[in-house]
Amino acid sequence: MNDPSFAQDPILDPLNPAQRDATAITSGPLCVLAGAGTGKTRLITHRIAHMVRDGVPGSSILAVTFTNKAAREMRDRVWNLVGQAGVRLSTFHSFCAAFLREEFPTVGRSSAFSIYDDADGLALMKRVIQDMGLDPEVHRPQQILNRIGRWKNKLVLPEQALDEETGAVEREAADAYRRYDAALGEANACDFDDLLVRALLLIRDNEEIGERWKQRITHVLVDEFQDTNRVQYELVRVLTREGHHLCVTGDQDQSIYSWRGAEPEQFDVFLEDHPEAALVRLEQNYRSTGHILTAASRVIACNRNRIPKQLWTEAEDGEAVRVVSFQDDYEEADAIANAVREFEAEGLDRTSMAVFYRTNALSLPIERALVGNGIPYVVVGGLEFFARAEVKDLLAYLRFLANPADVISLARILNVPPRGIGKKTQQAVIDEARTSGRRVGEFLRDETAFDGFPARARKALTAFAQRLQALDGHTDLPVAPFINKVLDLTTYADYWKAKATKSGSLDPYQNIGQFVTLAEEFDRLQGGSLPDFLAQVALLTDLDRTERKDEAVSLMTLHTSKGLEYDVVFLVGVEHGLLPHAMSMDTPHGFEEERRLFHVGMTRARRRLVITCAGARTRFGRAALASPSPFLDEIGLDGVEHYGDVGLRPGHSGEDAYERDEEDNPLAHLKAGAPVWHPDYGSGIVVTLRGRGRGLDRKVVVDFEDEGRRTLILRHSRLDVREDEVW
Ligand code: ATP
Ligand code: MG
Repeated sequence: MNDPSFAQDPILDPLNPAQRDATAITSGPLCVLAGAGTGKTRLITHRIAHMVRDGVPGSSILAVTFTNKAAREMRDRVWNLVGQAGVRLSTFHSFCAAFLREEFPTVGRSSAFSIYDDADGLALMKRVIQDMGLDPEVHRPQQILNRIGRWKNKLVLPEQALDEETGAVEREAADAYRRYDAALGEANACDFDDLLVRALLLIRDNEEIGERWKQRITHVLVDEFQDTNRVQYELVRVLTREGHHLCVTGDQDQSIYSWRGAEPEQFDVFLEDHPEAALVRLEQNYRSTGHILTAASRVIACNRNRIPKQLWTEAEDGEAVRVVSFQDDYEEADAIANAVREFEAEGLDRTSMAVFYRTNALSLPIERALVGNGIPYVVVGGLEFFARAEVKDLLAYLRFLANPADVISLARILNVPPRGIGKKTQQAVIDEARTSGRRVGEFLRDETAFDGFPARARKALTAFAQRLQALDGHTDLPVAPFINKVLDLTTYADYWKAKATKSGSLDPYQNIGQFVTLAEEFDRLQGGSLPDFLAQVALLTDLDRTERKDEAVSLMTLHTSKGLEYDVVFLVGVEHGLLPHAMSMDTPHGFEEERRLFHVGMTRARRRLVITCAGARTRFGRAALASPSPFLDEIGLDGVEHYGDVGLRPGHSGEDAYERDEEDNPLAHLKAGAPVWHPDYGSGIVVTLRGRGRGLDRKVVVDFEDEGRRTLILRHSRLDVREDEVW
């Protein structure tokens, strides 16, 4: 109070004591582990500003967030607090792409590399499978890619996979991995996982590069750490010299991306790696009313695999959480439109209302009802703009022009628009270029290259090559005018214009126009080369280009809602098989992740939370019966109002999954006298089991040969049943 400047400190004043303490910790590893809405993101933002004010150069701070959108918002806030400080705020992928663009030349690779999305990766894998002479019906490219993804996320490189795997199928996959990796290198391309792995390997194993970047970036902050994978963690750990000045924040109860390789145990790993780390817990929730917070806390408390935490709020209890059941999805959608009107009449703003669903398919009836009621809406992240054929084609043209080694992009456009270059000729071009040891773009520009081809193919290829050469004269144009030249000289725009006249659908043509607008914005706002533009576009998600619409309600999937907040949240389709989703609900692990997803959705709501389900839902064009999600029982009764005839079946939730787990788990069948093995304590003999029934929540007492008697909870015991035991 004596210090008047403190009373007006825009960086520290808006923080509570716990947040302020965490801000004051300016050196050493820091872990902020706290529930939803407790101000983790605010803390990170203000901590950055505080460091800058303290004299840490902005350019030596890297903050990593989960989406480009979150990064942009953080950048704006930091800017407001300390001005343009040059802090790097990005996603892991954007940071790695920028890093590689700068450092690839150091190791003899071109910085104009292509970034392959999942579809490009799949196209490349199909080629690899073909080259290996395997049957794609048996050796499914997507499955192999999934396997490779798991290796990469665990930082297992191709040679290592080949060394370690012994089974025939796994070895085949490892061999495909090695070839896929080589093919990526040959095409001068990286897929999404590759961006992370390559960046990590360069920083970790190349002393010169590593040292340079470790000097350049001294402080790293990671938000939403619960959804990072091993490679991402390793990257920031190495960068900060074993975690010195590394700050991670997150919430294990919001870990919802394990299906993409995120490892929620990352917090445990971090704390084990850094026993000296300061651990901060935030418990005051600033987002939601009391009733919403309590309901969300009750739900997540049903997860068994978690550390309990107690959140509290100073906010009032507020309105009751509504749980409503309907006859069918149409009735549900109409009711939502009506509720939007009702809340508006109460003075709530439509732009702060959102509808969340488990899968995109659920949005259709809602969209219809909103249109019918004249309520504007935006679907956040559902446009898939960059997956559209015309946008991908245009991107392929640009990528091939920027990166002459990019065979996948070339294969996409060689005969688009149709110019009489058949599949066989396309393959021959790629093979010939490889045999001649040249990049395919250089090969194509060589007039003598097609001498051995049949006359028709030669003519078509020569015409194509001439178009490429014509474009070579315009490479110094800014990006948007260059794209217009490409559209013009390749006749690609005319192709869609003609199609539009025939089919009456202008969409693809307009999408091309939108893409050019994107490039114009790039030229105007930041400028840069074509590869710069492509790198940026490759990592944009649909979330990043959701148009702003005045007075619109937002619609999005639960996964997309992470980190966001709205006054009013409608959570629809909370039904068995949808949430929990049928794909994930059969294992305790999957079931609990679904519950976390539900919890994430609930905790986005500030003032009103409406949760709905229907007795029948149209799926794949047909109405099917639906039943309420077991999660609805877990919301509880206090501060909750039920409408419709949702049945409450306390205790039912998830038991199936848990029971199955316990049936399958040999530990559940453990008996006194059984020999066991523990990774830390070695071998021992079970003395007794304590607790009711046969579940994994019982305690087991074990006499270890070297460590003596220990009591462990079966579920977390890490015990292995020794193989010499017969069951
Ligand atoms: P999530 O887990 O959902 O990502 P979070 O922990 O990152 O949430 P924030 O988004 O930072 O939480 O904060 C939630 C809300 O509470 C925001 O509206 C934020 O502005 C507000 N808030 C955070 N800290 C404080 C504080 N000390 N005083 C007042 N409001 C706060
Ligand atoms: Mg946050």
